[in-house]
Amino acid sequence: MRIDLHTHSDRSDGTTTPKELVSRAGKRGIDVLALTDHDTTEGWGEAAEAAAHEGLTLVRGIEVSCKLEGSAVHLLSYLPDPTYEPLAAELGRILEGRNARLPATLAKLRRIGIEIEEEDVRRVAGDAAAMGRPHVADALVEKGVVQDRGEAFDTYLGSRGPAYVNRYAAPLEEMVRLVAAAGGVSVVAHPWGRRYTHKALDEARFASLKDAGLAGIEVDHQDHEEPDREALRSIARNLDLVVTGSSDYHGEGKVDHDLGCNTTDPEEFTRLVELSRASAAASGRITPEVLVP
Ligand code: AMP
Ligand code: FE
Ligand code: FE
Ligand code: ZN
Repeated sequence: MRIDLHTHSDRSDGTTTPKELVSRAGKRGIDVLALTDHDTTEGWGEAAEAAAHEGLTLVRGIEVSCKLEGSAVHLLSYLPDPTYEPLAAELGRILEGRNARLPATLAKLRRIGIEIEEEDVRRVAGDAAAMGRPHVADALVEKGVVQDRGEAFDTYLGSRGPAYVNRYAAPLEEMVRLVAAAGGVSVVAHPWGRRYTHKALDEARFASLKDAGLAGIEVDHQDHEEPDREALRSIARNLDLVVTGSSDYHGEGKVDHDLGCNTTDPEEFTRLVELSRASAAASGRITPEVLVP
């Protein structure tokens, strides 16, 4: 049983359609797949159809952009009712922040002599509902300014780069509560990932997030070295949080993140699903089911 609980399609910054993503997962021998585009549920319908066709179990999720003490934290939110108004409103605010950032980013690039039009970015972004720096990176590649997304982040778009612009993200603990109120479950994505400095995410913080409704920690992720995985596993064990592992697949958009490169233990997945059922029942919301073929 191969379970991959964190992947992206071209509705955010992945490079494959939800349909193609599901088909690739099938070919890779993935049995359970979660689609977790940044801040949007746009890919859910297409992925559901493809999963039924492919004979794959699908978990519908969202990787929500959050903030803790000024640092970015990504929250994997599984099976919430997307029509729950406070959640929909907060996702709307995040998407608005993404859109507002684009012209500001392009103005900063222009200041250092790089001319990219909003139109160029929107064209390479194609069907994306969640516009992001990776799309600006793709436009920079298209213009021949950089070789790939990695170089674009290293040189211009990273948090210390000359074209970095901050954007709105949801307060982390509030979002954990919102996802629970929407009948879903949440898991902190790559908490100690390389690109983020999350000293604030220690055991005490995880304990208070658990009190707010947090279900788990994404431990097995490419951004975590082995010692950090061990430390996070032990925090999860102490707090009785679910441990997940996943690829954070972005198609051609991220190297070394192939589908199934990290997976979630079936027992941990079962616990996560049980917690989601309990959350759905407690919330009184009508939530999406895990789609079993
Ligand atoms: P944004 O959501 O617009 O703030 O951009 C952040 C996203 O860019 C992350 O969620 C990653 O998917 C992606 N990203 C960050 N660093 C890199 C990198 N070095 N190479 C490729 N993608 C990256
Ligand atoms: Fe991404
Ligand atoms: Fe992430
Ligand atoms: Zn991700």
